Amino acid sequence: MNFFKSNPRLTIPNKLIINKSNMTTVTTIDKVCANIGRLPLELRHAIFNCLTIDFRLEMLQAKKAQIIRTLFQAYTERLLNITALKRIVDKVIRCNFFYRKEPNADYLIQPPLKKWLPPLEFKQMDEISSTEHPVFKALLKIVIIPKIHGTINSKTLRRWPSQHALDALTKIVSCITKTWDIIPTITVPSGCLHQKNHGNCGDNFNYRIRKYTFNSICILNKFVSKFKVPLEERAVKKLKIAHMRYFKRSIIPKMRSTYRVMQRKLKLSAKKVAQETKLAAKVAKAAATKARKDAKAAATKAKKDAKAVDTKARKKNY
Ligand SMILES: [Zn+2]
Repeated sequence: MNFFKSNPRLTIPNKLIINKSNMTTVTTIDKVCANIGRLPLELRHAIFNCLTIDFRLEMLQAKKAQIIRTLFQAYTERLLNITALKRIVDKVIRCNFFYRKEPNADYLIQPPLKKWLPPLEFKQMDEISSTEHPVFKALLKIVIIPKIHGTINSKTLRRWPSQHALDALTKIVSCITKTWDIIPTITVPSGCLHQKNHGNCGDNFNYRIRKYTFNSICILNKFVSKFKVPLEERAVKKLKIAHMRYFKRSIIPKMRSTYRVMQRKLKLSAKKVAQETKLAAKVAKAAATKARKDAKAAATKAKKDAKAVDTKARKKNY
């Protein structure tokens, strides 16, 4: 365990090789992550402690992108307090590496790191000069948030203050991403730079800066986790509004026109029915008239016939 901790360079990126007596299994980080999550917490911690710091950092690769995405989403929804974020980033990133005795004073290297990498001493004009290890100069450019002027108004919806807030957020995020991307690649030679060789100072330094990076990812992951539920709620609300708008804009007008068309059809069919009824009535009336006429004619004829028969009979009797 300590062997791995003190040798951060002994890693195989993105692959974990498990030696089982005579067989070797190569498995991807995703597979390991998916299965570790199912284990009890104690076991999970035990496993994490056995993994190299580089491997653990690699396991958080997807988390890093997710954290940055959530930060921007939370700002868009005006849920993020940028000033609080700035304070946290300063605390979990910069403070591990550099500190200041007073505000606006120069940054000084934190003693635990300075302990591993002492200043380089050299003779110049018979005088002993010393300079800090160049890696600190590089670190200073990475872990410090670029200067943000004025106060940050994270809640405003007005154009210029929100532009300023977004600029501030971008500066903070640039510090975060630089730290997460660059620091795991910084490796000083293993061994000791002290005059008395007293251990593996270089590797200790390499491990320490990676561990700080790892911790900052975990802390910021916790920081953004509180936005998860409100962001989801907002997304659902937005979806509902979008559906309502769709309903109003395209379904209701369609309903109206459909209703109108139906009404017109109903009216037309009612008219048709009325016309047909009228026609039928006319036909019936005509038929009735004809029948009456026929009956009358028949009656007249019958009367005439009867009269004729009567006259004939009377003539016969004379
Ligand atoms: Zn040393």
